[in-house]
Amino acid sequence: MNSTVLSCGAAECAFNMGDECHASSISVGSEHAACDTFSLSGIQEENANPEVASCQISDCQFNTDRTCGASGITVSTHERHADCATFSTV
Ligand code: SF4
Ligand SMILES: [Zn+2]
Repeated sequence: MNSTVLSCGAAECAFNMGDECHASSISVGSEHAACDTFSLSGIQEENANPEVASCQISDCQFNTDRTCGASGITVSTHERHADCATFSTV
Protein backbone atom coordinates (compact mmCIF):
# COMPACT_ATOMS: atom_id res chain seq x y z
CA MET A 1 0.00 0.00 0.00
CA ASN A 2 1.27 3.45 -0.81
CA SER A 3 2.32 5.82 1.92
CA THR A 4 0.44 9.03 2.68
CA VAL A 5 1.49 12.58 3.57
CA LEU A 6 0.89 12.98 7.31
CA SER A 7 1.90 16.62 7.47
CA CYS A 8 3.66 19.28 5.46
CA GLY A 9 5.35 22.42 6.69
CA ALA A 10 5.60 24.11 3.27
CA ALA A 11 3.02 26.80 3.95
CA GLU A 12 3.76 28.58 0.67
CA CYS A 13 2.61 25.59 -1.41
CA ALA A 14 -0.84 26.08 -2.92
CA PHE A 15 -1.91 22.62 -1.69
CA ASN A 16 -1.02 23.35 1.93
CA MET A 17 -3.68 24.23 4.46
CA GLY A 18 -2.76 24.28 8.14
CA ASP A 19 0.22 21.91 7.70
CA GLU A 20 -1.97 19.42 5.81
CA CYS A 21 -1.47 18.57 2.15
CA HIS A 22 -4.60 18.83 -0.02
CA ALA A 23 -3.16 17.65 -3.34
CA SER A 24 -4.83 14.62 -4.99
CA SER A 25 -1.53 12.74 -4.66
CA ILE A 26 2.14 13.64 -4.58
CA SER A 27 5.31 12.33 -6.15
CA VAL A 28 8.81 12.61 -4.73
CA GLY A 29 12.30 12.67 -6.06
CA SER A 30 13.23 14.38 -9.30
CA GLU A 31 16.78 15.36 -8.29
CA HIS A 32 16.72 14.64 -4.57
CA ALA A 33 13.97 13.73 -2.07
CA ALA A 34 11.89 16.78 -2.97
CA CYS A 35 8.10 16.93 -3.26
CA ASP A 36 7.65 17.27 -7.03
CA THR A 37 4.01 18.25 -6.56
CA PHE A 38 4.97 21.44 -4.70
CA SER A 39 3.43 24.36 -6.58
CA LEU A 40 2.62 27.99 -5.98
CA SER A 41 -0.71 27.51 -7.79
CA GLY A 42 -3.21 24.66 -7.76
CA ILE A 43 -6.68 23.59 -6.70
CA GLN A 44 -6.91 21.98 -3.27
CA GLU A 45 -8.77 18.70 -2.79
CA GLU A 46 -11.31 18.52 0.01
CA ASN A 47 -9.58 15.55 1.61
CA ALA A 48 -6.13 15.84 3.16
CA ASN A 49 -3.33 13.30 3.61
CA PRO A 50 -2.88 12.23 -0.03
CA GLU A 51 -1.02 9.18 -1.26
CA VAL A 52 2.62 9.24 -2.22
CA ALA A 53 1.97 8.02 -5.76
CA SER A 54 5.62 7.43 -6.57
CA CYS A 55 9.11 8.10 -5.27
CA GLN A 56 12.27 7.96 -7.37
CA ILE A 57 14.70 7.88 -4.41
CA SER A 58 15.81 4.26 -4.66
CA ASP A 59 18.41 4.53 -1.88
CA CYS A 60 15.75 5.34 0.73
CA GLN A 61 15.14 2.42 3.07
CA PHE A 62 11.38 2.70 2.51
CA ASN A 63 11.55 2.55 -1.29
CA THR A 64 10.68 -0.58 -3.27
CA ASP A 65 10.29 -0.29 -7.03
CA ARG A 66 9.54 3.44 -6.80
CA THR A 67 6.84 2.91 -4.19
CA CYS A 68 7.11 4.45 -0.72
CA GLY A 69 6.42 1.89 2.00
CA ALA A 70 6.75 4.20 5.01
CA SER A 71 3.72 4.23 7.30
CA GLY A 72 3.39 7.91 6.46
CA ILE A 73 5.71 10.75 5.52
CA THR A 74 6.27 14.28 6.69
CA VAL A 75 7.34 17.04 4.34
CA SER A 76 9.20 20.20 5.26
CA THR A 77 10.57 23.24 3.54
CA HIS A 78 13.99 23.18 1.92
CA GLU A 79 15.20 26.43 0.40
CA ARG A 80 12.35 27.49 -1.91
CA HIS A 81 10.67 24.10 -2.28
CA ALA A 82 9.76 21.15 -0.03
CA ASP A 83 11.53 17.89 0.82
CA CYS A 84 10.42 14.55 2.19
CA ALA A 85 11.65 14.60 5.82
CA THR A 86 11.10 10.85 6.20
CA PHE A 87 13.83 9.99 3.68
CA SER A 88 16.41 7.79 5.34
CA THR A 89 19.09 5.44 4.10
CA VAL A 90 19.40 3.48 7.35
S1 SF4 B 1 4.79 20.69 -0.77
FE1 SF4 B 1 4.02 18.71 -1.53
S2 SF4 B 1 3.34 17.64 0.38
FE2 SF4 B 1 3.50 19.86 0.87
S3 SF4 B 1 1.43 20.70 0.53
FE3 SF4 B 1 2.61 20.98 -1.38
S4 SF4 B 1 2.10 19.19 -2.65
FE4 SF4 B 1 1.54 18.71 -0.53
ZN1 LIG C 1 15.13 19.97 -1.41
